[in-house]
Amino acid sequence: MPAPDQRVLLIGLDAADPVLVQDWITRGDLPHLAGLQRRGTTMRLETSARHLAGSPWPTFFTGQHPTGHGLYADFQWRHETMEFAAPTPDWIDPVPFWRELEDEIDIVVYDVPFVTQARRVRGVEIVGWATHDKLLPPNSYPDSLLAEVERRFGSWHVSYEAYGPAPVAELLALRDEMIENTRRSTELILWLLERDWQLALVCLSALHRGGHRLFDRSSIKGEVTAAEGAAFDDAMRQLYIAADTAVGRLVEAFPEVDVVVFSLHGMMTNIARADLLDDMLRRVLEGPTAKARKGLVRQLGEALPYSLRRAVSKRIPRVLQDRLMTAWATGGIDWHKTPAFCCRADLQGYVRLNLKGREAQGCVEPGPEAEALVARIREGLMSFREADTGEPVIDDVVPAEDVLPPGPVRDRIPDLFVMWRETSQAGLRAVQSDSLGTIRRAAPGEGNGPNGRSGNHRPEGILIAAGRGIPEGRLSNARPHTVDLAPTVLRRLDLHSRAPLVGTVIDELAGLR
Ligand SMILES: [Zn+2]
Repeated sequence: MPAPDQRVLLIGLDAADPVLVQDWITRGDLPHLAGLQRRGTTMRLETSARHLAGSPWPTFFTGQHPTGHGLYADFQWRHETMEFAAPTPDWIDPVPFWRELEDEIDIVVYDVPFVTQARRVRGVEIVGWATHDKLLPPNSYPDSLLAEVERRFGSWHVSYEAYGPAPVAELLALRDEMIENTRRSTELILWLLERDWQLALVCLSALHRGGHRLFDRSSIKGEVTAAEGAAFDDAMRQLYIAADTAVGRLVEAFPEVDVVVFSLHGMMTNIARADLLDDMLRRVLEGPTAKARKGLVRQLGEALPYSLRRAVSKRIPRVLQDRLMTAWATGGIDWHKTPAFCCRADLQGYVRLNLKGREAQGCVEPGPEAEALVARIREGLMSFREADTGEPVIDDVVPAEDVLPPGPVRDRIPDLFVMWRETSQAGLRAVQSDSLGTIRRAAPGEGNGPNGRSGNHRPEGILIAAGRGIPEGRLSNARPHTVDLAPTVLRRLDLHSRAPLVGTVIDELAGLR
């Protein structure tokens, strides 16, 4: 059991970028984070987002790698039924470490992304309130808490992300909404923290949503005046200043507690060309004359779920939505002649083999046949270059087994990760392969990517921690993994968990007494 005066406040700044944070700390723009850095230890975090962009939150809160928790996107392949579906608790329901404690302590949890459903804890939990990623509508433990929150703070859930480049006025409105989101979340968190607690985990999501859409001007559609341009170029910094203010308010309210501010991945220029992968893979499998499948399927990336869900979510039940989206994504596929296919992706590309014995309608024998297929896909995909520049499009095509440890739900994870070359995707109009021909981008807009995201995730997080026994003013070269956070927090509080945590305690932060 923790000593009664030992408390830990974890503040998740979703997708806060380690490079931007450090630059703006150095320039004096983020005084509260700078103060925390002076009295604590800073380190970069290795992350499961390196290969599975949507996985870092479940990796953190289960303390397991993706092959142990199986959740990596808001729309995943379900091989038992050959369909895409939104993960729901009856199918994929990774258990957060704070629900598996052997000791009873008071807990406050606010808005951890990718948690599906609030469940009984000693304390309170709010899920899916103002997060960028949410799998279910807002919910809480106890049930009555949500109604009380709405009474006190009003209803201001974050909507699903808009799709496509947007007029600059719309993006500046997003900036304002995100700054307001941070401010209102902070008020709500301070209210939640008025009760007794020893472990609090609170998340702010503005840097995530804002980072995707405000990173640079390739998110903008149409004319931009000089004043609008200047405001837009400063929007990201303004969001970080708002997040810094939030951290300052929380730290000032609890000067005696241990504080850990962290992100599980960052934000950099968008390198994703995942919207092209479906057609690239079909060329590899069927040759240069393979026809692109028509319509929405070309946008199997970000577009399909968001735009569709927005269009239909109020009108039909989720199970029908899944069926509808599956029909659009896989309609017309003859599984017995389809050895491999793409899964929805918004950063790295995901390829899955249609493996016998695993997929319900598998047609590829595991072993030598599958290995030959992987080699063929890898070689074919890597033959594509940017049509305009001749530069490669893909850095590497990586089998999951090469980068992830084995785990009980490995079957849920794609088989191949397509790692794009680390240059901006904006302006890419077509890809070309000597043997497989040319593929034009479905909707390059005004030279920009189709989904309007100028920013996408840097595969690296940051952690700034201060508290008893943690070295002061240290910029550490240690590079722990996101799976190491849960065991480290539990060690600080001298708590024990029934959860099978695979990470190791970060020595510099353990604060053993
Ligand atoms: Zn994201």
